[in-house]
Amino acid sequence: MDTKEYSNGEITILWQTDKCIHSGICVKTLPKVYNPKERPWVKPENATTEELLDQVSKCPSGALSIK
Ligand code: SF4
Repeated sequence: MDTKEYSNGEITILWQTDKCIHSGICVKTLPKVYNPKERPWVKPENATTEELLDQVSKCPSGALSIK
């Protein structure tokens, strides 16, 4: 399983590539953080820790989690 890590200095978002079903919910909820057209595609520094935690809990596939 391939897991990528993205940190804002406070928390680290883990993204499990195989689990992602590309629903796009993360992109719609926090477009400044999740942009599949850019690299890295996750930029956690563009939201507050609270916003990130709230969004990660809405990922339908469980691909996103917090470390
Ligand atoms: S919300 Fe979760 S499953 Fe949907 S695109 Fe984002 S990471 Fe993938």
